[in-house]
Amino acid sequence: MTEKAKLKQLACPPECGFMVRSHDEKEIVEIALQHAKKIHKMEISKD
Ligand SMILES: [Zn+2]
Repeated sequence: MTEKAKLKQLACPPECGFMVRSHDEKEIVEIALQHAKKIHKMEISKD
């Protein structure tokens, strides 16, 4: 495992304040999807 792996992040608008950061893009997508569903009551695509 390398420490130099790219850290990806995804953030909601400031009024939400949610942010997820991970080396694992799949994990980010999953967390973001759950967040969108739960907090914003919407579905977002995986793109
Ligand atoms: Zn949000």
